[in-house]
Amino acid sequence: MAWTTISRFVAILLTLWSALALTGCGAGEEADSDSGAKAAVTPDPAMLTALAGADAVDGETDKVVSKCLMCGLGMSGNANHPSTVGDYTLHHCSSRCQAKFDEDPKTYLVNAKIPE
Ligand SMILES: [Zn+2]
Repeated sequence: MAWTTISRFVAILLTLWSALALTGCGAGEEADSDSGAKAAVTPDPAMLTALAGADAVDGETDKVVSKCLMCGLGMSGNANHPSTVGDYTLHHCSSRCQAKFDEDPKTYLVNAKIPE
């Protein structure tokens, strides 16, 4: 007797649930803080100086730091482990270096020892 009522109710619930799921994706507070960790960092002048130095280490000023900054620019970076700071892309040697850098790009950049 009430079967159609129940299935209509379920359909409404499913619609509400999927609407919630959709708006929750990218719009929720948690999603924001998640993507915030990987969002582009705006570099200050000290960071830009470090970035320009690190960029030049590989012999090309292409705004791609192809050596792993976290490994003192001694290790080759991998494009699969990138971080973005302003216009620069930094390639890290591992996801571990990438995650560490992304935690505090400013500190790691300003304190980076850039080989002359
Ligand atoms: Zn590394």
